[in-house]
Amino acid sequence: MTLAEEIILLLEQQAVTQGFTCVKQLWLEIGDLAGVDAEALDFCPETIKLDTLAADARVHIRHQPGQGHCPRCEQTLIVHSRLDACPQCGHYPLQIQGGDAMRVCELEVE
Ligand SMILES: [Zn+2]
Repeated sequence: MTLAEEIILLLEQQAVTQGFTCVKQLWLEIGDLAGVDAEALDFCPETIKLDTLAADARVHIRHQPGQGHCPRCEQTLIVHSRLDACPQCGHYPLQIQGGDAMRVCELEVE
């Protein structure tokens, strides 16, 4: 699936549950560990081709840092990659707790 297809899928689900027909603005939260090419989006979010539901929507991107937990030193840390080891004790792997997903966090609809 392309990123645009994923977004449309998320929007279609929300359109059904919330009963709207047109999205005017859209805020996406993209975790740094989500494997989504958010850099490309930052340059020109409007190039995401959305279907009629959100054809004229403005897309805003929010980044969410990756969050991990080290089971050895019981610390929650910012993780830049799934391959990161704990900076304190070198433990690997860390338990990923956040920043590994993409979600629609806010919508302005009609
Ligand atoms: Zn540790």
